[in-house]
Amino acid sequence: MRNLRYLFGFVGALAGSLQAQTLAPATSPAATAAPAVSPVIGIPDPVAQLGKLSALGTLPNWSELEAYAGSMTREEFQKVWKELFSEANALPPPFEITEEALLVPTGQDAMPKLKLAFRPVGQTGSPVTNSWHRARDLPPLNGRPLLSDLHIALDPGHIGGSWAIMEERFLSFKMGESIREGDLSLLTAKILKERLMALGAIVSLVRENNDPVTPKRPADLEKDARQILADAGFPDPAPTYQGVTGDAKLLTVQWQSEKLFYRVSEIHARGERVNKQIKPDLVVCLHFNAESWGDSTAPQFSPQNHLHILVNGCYSNAELMQQDVRFEMLARLFGRVHEEELPLAKSIAESTARTTGLPAYVYTTPNARKLPDNPYVYARNLLANRIYRCPVIYLEPYVMNHEETYRRLIAEHYLGRTLIGGKLVTSAIEDYVRGVVDGLVNYYQNHRRDS
Ligand SMILES: [Zn+2]
Repeated sequence: MRNLRYLFGFVGALAGSLQAQTLAPATSPAATAAPAVSPVIGIPDPVAQLGKLSALGTLPNWSELEAYAGSMTREEFQKVWKELFSEANALPPPFEITEEALLVPTGQDAMPKLKLAFRPVGQTGSPVTNSWHRARDLPPLNGRPLLSDLHIALDPGHIGGSWAIMEERFLSFKMGESIREGDLSLLTAKILKERLMALGAIVSLVRENNDPVTPKRPADLEKDARQILADAGFPDPAPTYQGVTGDAKLLTVQWQSEKLFYRVSEIHARGERVNKQIKPDLVVCLHFNAESWGDSTAPQFSPQNHLHILVNGCYSNAELMQQDVRFEMLARLFGRVHEEELPLAKSIAESTARTTGLPAYVYTTPNARKLPDNPYVYARNLLANRIYRCPVIYLEPYVMNHEETYRRLIAEHYLGRTLIGGKLVTSAIEDYVRGVVDGLVNYYQNHRRDS
């Protein structure tokens, strides 16, 4: 959503250059993007900079990446770095590509530099082992339903329920009616779960209700919020945003600690659940998009309605200066997650475009890059699609404040057609569900072994 406050991301952006950074996240209320922590005031110390962590990030164990030494040729690395993981017009990255190896500064004193040898051309590398399964590595079907053995985690975006207002995912154009993105995404996940299970899949929901997955609450994060504000050059912030108008709200401890809660801590908690408990072959993140609706007490409809699907990539140089982000990007790249994620995303984009009839959203900001062959698929570095250690398909269909879409979403889920605004229309949620199911069916039909 293009509510102004989404454009700012973390307040760090305000400190450095307001003009340059406000263009960050385009639509996605999604915007779980790595916070642009934080343009340092004064002269940055490059070594200290490379040891920095993203907000609430954990210190990576760099030696885990050593398992990938010799697994990828230099040419392969350069191609995927250039075409997917870097920004389209990137500054030089904070690592060095030599003839023989990738040299990565870790930011940690114990092992200042990680050296990952490239695989010489013509030599076979040892296969990379991952916790997730590619379509081709799943057991043969032998006549069983198409999605048998496939473990899919469905991640309903946001929290919803009583948290929707704090999350700024609550939309109402009339007293007594409202939509909450977190409720819609959960409803979509529950219907999708049934359909995928009927096709043989093992399906887990990353959340089952409107309770936060994280045990933390905004009050637990006030210290971190104060630190973010102090780092950004605001050592004495207002505690609450009550009575504060406009973007000054962003400079309050309350706003920052709430954002750390529902956006950052929540996604980290989901990451723990995905990576340590569920361990799926694939995560599907379910969202609904929005265009700027202005003042939430008097929202505006938008004439626009669109769809896009995100895969992980497009890391900015500033993001890669954070050691956890640098580590996670390299873990995905060398883990070859994109080799499964990209074709899956294209398949789901094609089918969802067909079932919803939505046009492609077009990013005009540098934080996302369009991938070839499909107008709906963009690469973007979001917290969720970075830290979930398996392919992640991140869907952003529909503009919730598009008038007809809003009315269809108010009607929730139904089969067939119903009369809305003088027109017989299908359920937006049913069309969403069918899009995901059809895309998965097409992909696994083409890539699974039968016997
Ligand atoms: Zn969302």
